This record gives sequence, C-alpha cells and structure tokens, in this order.
Amino acid sequence: MTFADPAGRTVRPYNFSAGPAALPEAVLRQAAAEMLDWQGSGMSVMEMSHRGREFMSICERAEADLRTLLAVPSNYRVLFMQGGGLAENAIVPMNLSRGGAVDFVVTGSWSQKSLKEAARYCDARVAATGESGGHFLSVPPASGWQLRPDAAYVHLCSNETIHGVEFAELPDLAALGSNAPLVIDCSSHILSRHIDWSRVGLAFAGAQKNIGPAGVTIVIVREDLIGQALAICPSAFDYRLVAENGSMYNTPPTYGIYIAGLVFQWVLAQGGVAEMDRRAAEKAALLYGFLDASGFYVNRVDPASRSRMNVPFFLRDETLNDEFLAGAKARGLLQLKGHKSVGGMRASIYNAMPLEGVQALVRYLDEFAAAHV
Ligand SMILES: *Cc1c(COP(=O)(O)O)cnc(C)c1O
Repeated sequence: MTFADPAGRTVRPYNFSAGPAALPEAVLRQAAAEMLDWQGSGMSVMEMSHRGREFMSICERAEADLRTLLAVPSNYRVLFMQGGGLAENAIVPMNLSRGGAVDFVVTGSWSQKSLKEAARYCDARVAATGESGGHFLSVPPASGWQLRPDAAYVHLCSNETIHGVEFAELPDLAALGSNAPLVIDCSSHILSRHIDWSRVGLAFAGAQKNIGPAGVTIVIVREDLIGQALAICPSAFDYRLVAENGSMYNTPPTYGIYIAGLVFQWVLAQGGVAEMDRRAAEKAALLYGFLDASGFYVNRVDPASRSRMNVPFFLRDETLNDEFLAGAKARGLLQLKGHKSVGGMRASIYNAMPLEGVQALVRYLDEFAAAHV
C-alpha cells in the first residue's frame, strides 16, 4: 500500500503505532537488499551462527555504535537480551534487589506493571505516584518522593508509552539524599534524548519502539551492580553470566540485533541523538501546539510532563472516533487508535517518524475538525 503525499510523490503510509513501531525506510530497504546474501557471505543474517565471524562483527559494531550514540561510560556493560520490557520487570529485581527494599515512582501503566511484578521478588513500595482520579497526567515533583534509605534501587519509567507522560529530566537521587542507583525503563524514548549516566545505574529498553524489531531487549548496567542475582534467577537472565559471555550465553536474537545495528547506523548518519532530540522537540511542538489551539481535540497531560514520543489525545465528540480513524487510514495515517485502557487516539512519533508525517497528521486533524464543526 502506498499513497501520494501533497507534492504528488508516492510514499509509504505514515505509521503512528506505539509498538512494534515504524522503522526508518532506509533500514528496511537495506535489510531487504541484504536478506538473501549478507555482504557476500552467502548467508542471510538469520542463517548465521551467532559465534561466527560475520555475526560477531555485526554484534560488535551494534554495541560500539550504541555506546557512541548514548555516550555509555566504559564501566557500564551493554547486554542484548530477550524477554522484552516485561521480562525485565522480573529480571531487574532478581539481579539487583537482593530481596530487599525497592522504591517505585509510578507515572503510568508501565511503572505500575513493574511495581507489581517486582513485588514477587522484593519489598517493592511506591515512593510517589502521579495518579489522580484514575488518570496519570504529570510526573510527581521529586522533592516529595518517599525514598527509603535502605532501598537497593529506585525504579521509574522515563517515558510512559500509554499515558504519554515523560520525564523531561531524570532525578538526581544523590541530591535527594539517596544512595540508591536509579533504574529506568526507557523502552519508548531511548535514543531520542541523552541519558545522564551520572544519575542512572541501569537502563533497559525493549527494542520495538525506537530501536528495531520486537525480541531484542537492551540492558545497560553499571558493572558494580552485576553479580548479586537471587538464587532463583534463571541463568539466561543473570546479568553476570550474560555480561561474561558477551550476550552469547544463550543464542541472542540475532536478526533483531542486526536490524538494531542498522538503526544505530541510521541515527548516527542523521546526526546522532542530539539531532533526534531536536527533531523530537520540533515534531512534538507542532502536534501539541495544534491540539492545544484546536478546541476540537484535547490532550490533558501537564505540558511539563508531556511525552515527545507518544501523544494521546481525544476528540471532544467521541461519537466521531470511528469516522476519524477510517478517514485517517484512507489518507495513509495508520494505527492512531488509542490504547484500550485510555481510549481516544494516540499518535506515536518515534525517531523513525519524519516531520512530514506529523505535518500530514496535523493537516488531517485540521481538515477533519473543519468538516465537523
Ligand atoms: C513496550 C514497553 C515495554 C515492553 O513491553 P514488552 O511487550 O514486554 O516488550 C516496557 N516498558 C515500556 C515503557 C514500553 O513502552
């Protein structure tokens, strides 16, 4: 399926899926070109031994590029794991909690899920919540967080994909009187802004939002936090074993790592994370600016906590939802339906979404509103 853009060019539809999400077209084209024969090897990447020279070079380059993109310090290990973000909700406490106290800052569904899962392995408690009347509309100010002095770590979700709530800045736990390392679930905004590693002990991300296909999970963890897994931790999920074996303790998701590596190369070629950050700000400003000015649509998240990646919004007249979605699809604007727990619409505008896609969405929003006032 293709459609014509305003300049009359034939383009792929703009895909606003929250995840698995759109990938850069250049990456898909390169993967297609290399599908049957990766760089003269005679093999598809899917057919290679994970311990062979070819795949090892793919994996090493992917890690090196990711380190460059996020300026990962040398005392942090980069792990390519499986199980997705949800598995990390158990894997992190199994590796870091020692079964003791862990504090959670809850700002939406994902941090809520993390809290619930961690409670099976440790003494998990809410340090602060952004919930109010069943809604999550802002990040609670760090000055009010109830942090326990003996917490093994503090967990937060730096971008809540479903509620559209993002930390514009990560907290400095030391300045709040806590020695605990900060753990962030950055699945849905990794590579859209820099990570201040002086404030973060561990960052994890499922790949399927901003990095690549579902199946790869990135874990970046400070070395001194590794090596204290609970006895019940499956060995394939023990960070020490994964790190010691260069993410090859078990067979890693090889094809997903390859695609992630292509995405890293693409981000580097675009100008790196600084450029992704600039584009994210530009795209988000365009979309929120339009929604706020419209009167026909509404987003209720506190502007200081609004996600630059996931923009949930509502038509004030919700009886028009189906017509809105059908009209969007007919114009090549795909997967705008909101998450079932929130309702309404959601436009996910990750790194792979060009400014032109957001412009096309805003044009449609405007025309749809004009046709229904
Ligand atoms: C998508 C997502 C996850 C991971 O989900 P899986 O289905 O387990 O891969 C975790 N956290 C956040 C914030 C997400 O957006």
